[in-house]
Amino acid sequence: MIKSIHTVLAANRGEIARRVFRTCRSLGIRTVAVFSDADAGAPFVQEADVAVRLPGSASAETYLNADAILDAAARTGADAIHPGYGFLAENAEFAEACAARGVTFIGPPPAAIRAMGQKREAKALAVKAGVPVVPGSEGAVDDAALAKAADAVGYPVLLKASAGGGGKGMRIVRAAAELPEAIAAAKRESKAAFGDDALLLEKYIERPRHVEIQIFGDAHGNVVHLFERECSIQRRYQKIVEEAPSTALSPELRAAMGDAAVRLAKAIGYVNAGTVEFVLGPAGDFHFLEVNTRLQVEHPVTECVTGLDLVREQIRVAEGHPLSFTQEQLKLDGASIEVRLYAEDPGAGHLPQTGVIHDFHLPARDGVRVDSGVEAGSDVGIHYDPMLAKIVGFGPDRESARRRLVAALRELSISGVRTNRDLLLRTLDDQAFVAGDLDTHFLERRFGVELVAPPTDGALALAALAATLRSHAERAARAPVPTVTPRFRNNPFADECTAYRVGDREVTTHHRVLRDGSLHVVVRGGADGDAQTLVVSNLEVSERDVSFEANGVRRAARVTRADDATTVLVDGVLATFDESPRFPERRVAAQEGGYAAPMPGKVTDVRVKVGQAVRQGETLLVLEAMKMEHPIKAHSDGTVEALLAPPGTQVDPGTILIVVQ
Ligand code: ADP
Ligand code: ADP
Ligand code: MG
Repeated sequence: MIKSIHTVLAANRGEIARRVFRTCRSLGIRTVAVFSDADAGAPFVQEADVAVRLPGSASAETYLNADAILDAAARTGADAIHPGYGFLAENAEFAEACAARGVTFIGPPPAAIRAMGQKREAKALAVKAGVPVVPGSEGAVDDAALAKAADAVGYPVLLKASAGGGGKGMRIVRAAAELPEAIAAAKRESKAAFGDDALLLEKYIERPRHVEIQIFGDAHGNVVHLFERECSIQRRYQKIVEEAPSTALSPELRAAMGDAAVRLAKAIGYVNAGTVEFVLGPAGDFHFLEVNTRLQVEHPVTECVTGLDLVREQIRVAEGHPLSFTQEQLKLDGASIEVRLYAEDPGAGHLPQTGVIHDFHLPARDGVRVDSGVEAGSDVGIHYDPMLAKIVGFGPDRESARRRLVAALRELSISGVRTNRDLLLRTLDDQAFVAGDLDTHFLERRFGVELVAPPTDGALALAALAATLRSHAERAARAPVPTVTPRFRNNPFADECTAYRVGDREVTTHHRVLRDGSLHVVVRGGADGDAQTLVVSNLEVSERDVSFEANGVRRAARVTRADDATTVLVDGVLATFDESPRFPERRVAAQEGGYAAPMPGKVTDVRVKVGQAVRQGETLLVLEAMKMEHPIKAHSDGTVEALLAPPGTQVDPGTILIVVQ
C-alpha cells in the first residue's frame, strides 16, 4: 500500500535539516522546521515553508522533546517526520510514537532500531547471520566475564558502552592490571552519557581501517548495498574525513563485505537507509562493529559515486514504494571525499569553539558539494554539535576528487570561530593520504600531537601585508583628498606601523605612500625577524576583497575584521591575527596554578580532592561542552589547593575551576 507524503517535518537542525528540505523541495513536498531559541535565526528555519518554535535551547527541551515535535507535526499538518542523524534518529520509542499518531517515520521500523540499539545484542545477531565479528565478550556479561574474555582474546582489548555512540565510553586496555579500573571508568562514562552501564569487550585491532557499507531496504523484502565508505581518518573515534570507494577494497572484498551487510539487514528485517560498520584488518579480514539505523553524516560521498539522492529514496521507501534500483543496476562511478568542518581551536587542543561567524565564504566550484548549516552571521553556541559544514569533492578518480576538495578548502574564508580547516588541508595533502595508506591512527601516526603546523613566516608576512593594505585603503578613502600636494613632502600620509600577532609570533608592517601613488611596505617578523621590502601597486578594495600587486605579483585576499581579530585569506592561507591583550587572564591564572575553563560548558566530574597530591598529566576534572567530554589535566605535579566548580556547575570560558600549587 502506498501512503503518499505531502509534508515533511525535519526533527533536526543545521546542515541535515537543510539537506532534507533540499530534496523535499525538488519533490514538491512541503517542509516544516522545528527550532530551538538558539536556532531562531538559523538558515534551515528560513528555508522551511513553515517553522515551529520549540521553547528553550537545551537539546532535551527541544530536538529531543518527542512530544513537542509531534505536536508541531499535528499543528502544521506534517504527515511524515525525517529525524536526520543524532537526536531522535535512533530512538525506537519515537518511531513508535510517530506511528501511533499516524505520522510516517522516515527511517527503519522500530524493531530494527531496537535490535541494533545495543551493541551487544547487535553483535549476537551478526554472529547468527554469519557475519564476522571482533572476538570478545558475548552477550550480557559481568565484570568477571569481561576479565575472562580479555584473557581469552589477549591484550590489548577495547571496552565499549553497549548503548554507545559517538565514541563515548570507549577505552583501550593494554594489560590485565588496568582492567578493573578501566571497567569502572567505562561504566561511569556510559551511565552518564547513555543512562546505562552495560559494557562489552573486544580484541583491540591495531591499526585497522574503518570501512562501512551503506544498505537500503524496502517494505517488500528487497535489500541492497550501495558499496562502501572508508572513514578511517578519525579523532577521538569520530570521523573527520570520509571517502568512497575505499582504496583498500578489491572487487572481491567489496562483494564479500556487501553480502555480509545485506545478510545482516535481511536477518533483522531492515527497511530504509542504514549503515553496517566494520573494522578492516591489514590482511583484509573484516569484523562487524555496529549498525547505524539512520542516514549517516557521510552519506554525500555515496550519493556522489552512485548518482542517487538517498533522501529521495528514503522518502519513497517510507511511502511504501519498492526500491528504485536492484543490486545489479547499482554502479560505482568515480570517487568522492568528504571533510567535516568543525568549530574548534587548533591552538587549544582542538576544543570546540563558540562565537559568531563573521565571514563564511566558499566559492562554488565544479566537482565540489557543500552541505553547510551556517552562514555569515550565524551564532555557534554551546548547545549542539560543533560541525559547521561538510565539503565534498568528487570526480572521475580519487586524485581529481582530492584536488578539487583541496582547492575548495584553500578558498574557504571563515572568521569569527576557529576551525579544523588547516588540519583537513594537511590531511588531504599528506603523502600517505594521497597514497591511500590509511588507518584509524592516521592523524597521530602522521602528525603526532601537534596536529596542525603553524603558518610559515612568508605566509604570515603576506597576510599581514593584505591586512595593512585593507586598513590603508579604508583610511585613504576617509581622508580628505589633497588638492595640492606640498612639494616638500614626499608623501601625503605619514609612515605607519602596525603590529599583528598570531599566538606568540608577531609581524609588523611599516608602510608609506610613494610619489607615484604606490606603497612602500616593510614587513618584519617571524623567528629571525627578517625584513622584507615590498612595492605595492594597483590596490583595489571592495568590502572584504583586497587585490594588489606586490613586487610584480598580482594577488587577491579576503580580509575580515571583527571583535578583536583580523582574519586574512591569501593564497590558500587563512591567518587570524589577534588584537586581544597578549596574556589573557586565563593564561596568567594557569601560571599561578589556576586552571580555567577553556570554553563554556558544564563540569561533569571532579576527580580530585582538596589537599590531594596530583601528578602531571592526571585528569583533575571533566568539562562537558558541545556533547563532548574534555578532561582538564594537571600541567605539573602539585597539590590541589582549591576546588571552585563542583559537578553540575555551568561555567564561562576563563572561569577558574581548580587551583593546584
Ligand atoms: P557515528 O559516529 O555514530 O558512526 P556519524 O558519523 O553519522 O555516526 O555521526 C553522527 C553524529 O553526528 C552523532 O553522534 C552526533 O554527535 C552528531 N550530530 C547529530 N546531529 C547533528 C547535527 N544536526 N549537526 C551536526 N552533527 C550532528
Ligand atoms: P560508536 O558507536 O561510538 O561509533 P563503534 O563501535 O562504531 O562505536 O567504534 C567507533 C570507532 O572505534 C571505529 O570507527 C574504530 O575506529 C574504533 N574501533 C571500534 N572497535 C574497535 C576494535 N575492536 N579495535 C580497534 N578499533 C576499534
Ligand atoms: Mg560507529
